[in-house]
Parts: sequence; C-alpha cells; structure tokens
Amino acid sequence: MSQTMRAAAKTQAAPGFELVEAPIPRPGAGEVLVKVRVSAICGTDVHIYQWDQWAQSRVQPPLIFGHEFCGDVVELGPGVKGVKEGDFVSVETHFTCGVCRFCRTGRAHICQNVQIVGVDRDGCFAEYVTVPYENLWVWDAEVNPEVAAIQDPYGNAVHTALVCDLVGASVLITGVGPIGLAAIPIVKRAGAKQVICSDVSSYRLDLAAKLGADLTVNPASQDLYAVVAEATKGRGVDVLLEMSGNEQAINAGFKCLANGGQASLLGIPSKPVNLDLASAIVFKGATVYGINGRKMFETWYQGQALLESGLDLTPLITHRLPLARLGEGLELMKSGQCGKIIIYPGE
Ligand code: NAD
Ligand code: ZN
Repeated sequence: MSQTMRAAAKTQAAPGFELVEAPIPRPGAGEVLVKVRVSAICGTDVHIYQWDQWAQSRVQPPLIFGHEFCGDVVELGPGVKGVKEGDFVSVETHFTCGVCRFCRTGRAHICQNVQIVGVDRDGCFAEYVTVPYENLWVWDAEVNPEVAAIQDPYGNAVHTALVCDLVGASVLITGVGPIGLAAIPIVKRAGAKQVICSDVSSYRLDLAAKLGADLTVNPASQDLYAVVAEATKGRGVDVLLEMSGNEQAINAGFKCLANGGQASLLGIPSKPVNLDLASAIVFKGATVYGINGRKMFETWYQGQALLESGLDLTPLITHRLPLARLGEGLELMKSGQCGKIIIYPGE
C-alpha cells in the first residue's frame, strides 16, 4: 500500500478547499482503517466549503472533510471487536463518548461530547479514513454501495419520521431537500395515508413526486394551507415533518397541523425563529419532537429493515462525480438543483 492518498482538505480558515496528497492514516486503539468506496455530499460540507459562521466557530483546519460514506475495512487497530478485514461498512458519523449521562442511558444520539467525522476529525473525502469500531454498521445483506453511502441523511429521515404514529396518517413534509425526499418512501412504507410535500424548488418538488409524494406544493406560488385543508377535509395533517429549517415553512407547517397532531423537527434554522407557540402548539395539544442525528443503533436497524423490505432510495441520487470534481458538486448543492450527489474517491 502506498503511503499517501488523495483527499479534499480545508487547509485554511477561509472559503474553498484544496485537493491534497495526505498521509494514509493509521488506525489507533479501537479504530479501523476503512478504504472509502463511495461518499456523498451533505449540506454541512457546503457550510464548511463556504466557511460560514457555524464553520468558523467549529472547524479547525487543516481538516479532511466529508462524512457520508461506505467502504471496506482494510486494517484493524488493537482492541477492535465484531468486525474483520474485508467487511463492507457504513459509518454512524457521530462518535459518542460512551461515558456521559446520555450515552449511559441509551441516548447516545444526544451525547454531550459528540465528535463528528469530517467536522471535528478527518473525514471521508479521501481514499482512506479511520473510525472507531463501535461506529461501524457492517452490512450483512446485499446493498447498493451508493445507498450504503447515504445512510446518514437516510437515517435522519428514518428517525424524524418513525418517532410519529404514521399508520393511516396524513403527513406534511416541509422542505424536500435530500432528507425530506428520503422521508417520503419511509412514511409511505410505515403506513401513511397520504404525503404532502412543500418546497420552494420546483426541481426538488419533481423529485418528491418521483419518490412517491401524493401532492407537491410550492408555497411561493400556491396556498399550502388551502391545499392541505382540501386534502384533509379541513382537519389538517396528523403529522408534520419539518425538514427545511425555514421560518416561513415552520410557521406554515404548524398552521397545517391538526389538533392533537405530532410535529417532528429536524430542520436547523440559521437564526432564532418567531413562532406563536400558543396557536401552533399549546391550544392544539400538539406533540413536538426535536430530532438530533440517528438513534444508535435503533434507527439503523429500522433503516436496514425498510431497505430490505424494498424501499428504493436510488431516485434520490441525481449526480455522480469523482473526487477531483468535488468543487462542482459543492456548487451544485449550493444551487439546490440536485438530490444526493455521490463522490467516487478512487476515480
Ligand atoms: P436542505 O437544507 O437543502 O433542505 C432544505 C429544503 O428546504 C430545500 O430544498 C429548500 O428549498 C427548502 N425550503 C426552503 N424554504 C422553504 C419554504 N419556505 N417552504 C418549504 N421548503 C423550503 O438539505 P437537507 O440535507 O435535506 O437538510 C434539511 C434540514 O435538516 C436542514 O435544515 C439541515 O440543516 C437539517 N439537518 C438537521 C440534522 C439534525 O440532526 N437535526 C441533520 C442534518 C441536517
Ligand atoms: Zn456521551
């Protein structure tokens, strides 16, 4: 094996990134070395690329970024259990401490010392990456590697959707970025009666229809509330999955929620949001869930089971690029004219 690898790194505290030759990392105690087969671009990577306020406060260059991937285990560090060389794996990208109160009470997804691969330590826009063995999801069934690479956003959608009662439910998804799109076939398979999707991007609304949305609404030109009222005989939706982080969408979503409804919030607003809690939640007797990442590893078992039952994520994937063209992919993500963008590190 050669000593260096191709990688995309944030080398400076400034917008952009560089393609570099970096040393191949060595797995430490409890870690494995994964040869990346397929990776994918996440919105977080765009934040790091653009070097926005959040990135400036969190990321310390030099850093190889990227965190959505799958690959093959090629080397084990000391003390690794439950995995062997040659295993095909996806990776839970939140590396948790294992000792805080939340980790110790079965709630590692809200670990107070979480580290994220590709944000707090070197990530997967590279030919190799090291990860703790506890974070590996070893595939014991046939899976499309491009689907295995997008388990992080897919898991976010699984988690957001499955905290709600979906059987027979009318569901509104506000924001069909990659995660909102992934939620469509999930809620359908989980028994929802109808799925209504809103987004201001017609490109993404078209993708939503391909993934099985019953109704798609562009709130820039249509009255979402009126569409929902008609589709639900005036009752409103039983379930709101908020996946935009947009203030208008959040307000519109709660307005469409039926009395006694459930709202599961994944979207991250870039600043504090103005919402009338009394009418949105209190008088409605609504239940609201905040969603952080994926439950470890309940979400993963649920997600794999849904895939095995035939859930098809492939329509979500719209572009495939080699690592050398990562910059194009990041610009495309910025434009919103895409679903998931797959990156091949080896080409
Ligand atoms: P994204 O941010 O591209 O998706 C947001 C979508 O919302 C876009 O398609 C956008 O056009 C749409 N939108 C904007 N304004 C709207 C409006 N008024 N009405 C309806 N839709 C509108 O990408 P994503 O990766 O799918 O992420 C979705 C959200 O989830 C983001 O806010 C992201 O930051 C957040 N997120 C949260 C977690 C978590 O653990 N809580 C993890 C990953 C991502
Ligand atoms: Zn912890």
